Amino acid sequence: NLSTKLDKAFKTLKGQGSITEINVAATIKEIRRALVDADVNYKVAKEVTDKIKDEAMGRDVLTTVSPGQLMTKIVYDELTQLMGGTKEDVVLKGDPAVILLSGLQGSGKTTFAGKLATFIKKQNRTVLLVACDIYRPAAIDQLKVLGEQVGVEVYSEPDNKNPVEISQNAIAYAKKNNKKVVIIDTAGRLAVDEQMMREIEAVKRAINPSETLFVVDSMTGQDAVNTAKTFNDRLNFDGVVLTKLDGDSRGGAALSIRAVVEKPIKFISTGEKMEALDMFYPERMAQRILGMGDVISLVERAQQQFDEDEAKRINQKIRKNQFNFDDFLSQLEQIKKMGNLKDLVGMIPGMSKAIKDVDIDDDAFKPIESIIKSMTPQERATPEVLNGSRRRRLAKGSGTDIQQVNNLMKQFEDMRKVMRTMNKMSSTKGGMQQMA
Ligand code: GDP
Ligand code: MG
Repeated sequence: NLSTKLDKAFKTLKGQGSITEINVAATIKEIRRALVDADVNYKVAKEVTDKIKDEAMGRDVLTTVSPGQLMTKIVYDELTQLMGGTKEDVVLKGDPAVILLSGLQGSGKTTFAGKLATFIKKQNRTVLLVACDIYRPAAIDQLKVLGEQVGVEVYSEPDNKNPVEISQNAIAYAKKNNKKVVIIDTAGRLAVDEQMMREIEAVKRAINPSETLFVVDSMTGQDAVNTAKTFNDRLNFDGVVLTKLDGDSRGGAALSIRAVVEKPIKFISTGEKMEALDMFYPERMAQRILGMGDVISLVERAQQQFDEDEAKRINQKIRKNQFNFDDFLSQLEQIKKMGNLKDLVGMIPGMSKAIKDVDIDDDAFKPIESIIKSMTPQERATPEVLNGSRRRRLAKGSGTDIQQVNNLMKQFEDMRKVMRTMNKMSSTKGGMQQMA
């Protein structure tokens, strides 16, 4: 799997402390190949790996996991993020709420219509299925059979060849008969076709659905992306349904489609049974694409251990009044990683004061970080040596000005004062418990 491949690519990294430009290149290639193998569109795979490279560069390699494992975790996080981060629900607005299904023939629309009806019925809402495939009489029967199977009424007008009329009539029927959700199953062609597009556009315009879903067969690989793009250009759909994920498809289509049309994937369909429907969870799909087992949790545990050790180490230094710029930088990185900055700044003694006049987002730390990174190891360890000329050099080196450098020095000194005071207080109280 990818993790082992990455371990190999990372052989050269052994003994080095962090991921750098040179040692990451081979790995990035390996990741790109793995993504393309999983049916991710080449262009998307390239964009993704460029992002991953930025993310990976300079990350410390933890001692308890292999660099390949760490890299896999970085890739996993990035893929999850790219696929939307969290699951997104279908929107049911209006009385009745109308859901319009679109997609090519054979993509799984009719099957999905039955599944979605089952899904919504379970939430105690009344559903009406509407047969709008006017080209194949068998399609109406197929939906009727499904409707019967799941206990949902099916509306159809076998002699009417106008899908706009049928869907409008169906909505009126739903209102009269107290159906809260209307699911409209439409016709599809084997390939994108102008008449089909016009037809479904017209239906959408006429009924203004609260949700237009694009249904696509995940086994169609690269084609899925082009089809999605064409449908989205014409329909501006709200979400994607990925079908036939019970096959050996690796799910790369999910990533490509999300990246190309920027619409959320809402459901995945994993079989012909009516229960075989799942919400789309980006993290599960990322795992599927990468084809890995428990690497993620392994790395997460190691990361946590690393963070705990680091916190202990810094605490020690605070107690001994040895807190320096290396520690400051490490704390900044910790805070950024943890996300919600506003909640966290108060956790480090003096830190909230040091950054009180900056807006709290990741960018806010950039000048501070670049100033610290411009320091020599000696300057970081013993900030007292930072005289006027050294400070001017730092300003130049970090692309800031002397005012910003002086501010940082002042804030840093204030922080250390707070720490010293706290140390005194807690030692007079006879222990460190208060501080912790
Ligand atoms: P439509 O033309 O878009 O309405 O597609 P259908 O719903 O008629 O499905 C086409 C074929 O794919 C049928 O044989 C379905 O049983 C099958 N199918 C639909 N969804 C799935 C799925 O999630 N997994 C599998 N294995 N087959 C599916
Ligand atoms: Mg159909």
